[in-house]
Amino acid sequence: MLQCTALAAVRSPQGEIGYPSCELGEEHDGEHAEFCWDDDATGGAVWFRWGALGGRFVLLPWCETTGGEDDDACTLFEHHPAAHSWAVVDPTREALRQEIERLHPELARRPKPGRDQSS
Ligand SMILES: [Zn+2]
Ligand SMILES: [Zn+2]
Repeated sequence: MLQCTALAAVRSPQGEIGYPSCELGEEHDGEHAEFCWDDDATGGAVWFRWGALGGRFVLLPWCETTGGEDDDACTLFEHHPAAHSWAVVDPTREALRQEIERLHPELARRPKPGRDQSS
């Protein structure tokens, strides 16, 4: 499944403009979502969710369902719509990965999808 291509422009309270891009699988139900930061206190993460009526930051637990080729934990939030992260392909990232592997075959190894949650 390809990644949703929704993009938004959001002004922060400090006046900076951010451009969240949706990380969910294409044609998902409900609002779009971009990961913002880990919330170690709750073991979840803050996501920016948006739709036609605007956006908001929400704290959500991790999905953590494992699967895919490497049995990785899903890096999306609990009860997210559409496919788990290990089944969602970002076409831009995938194209870059293939180009890097072509230029540097010595580095060719499937990168582990998923985020470093140790920090
Ligand atoms: Zn989306
Ligand atoms: Zn999931």
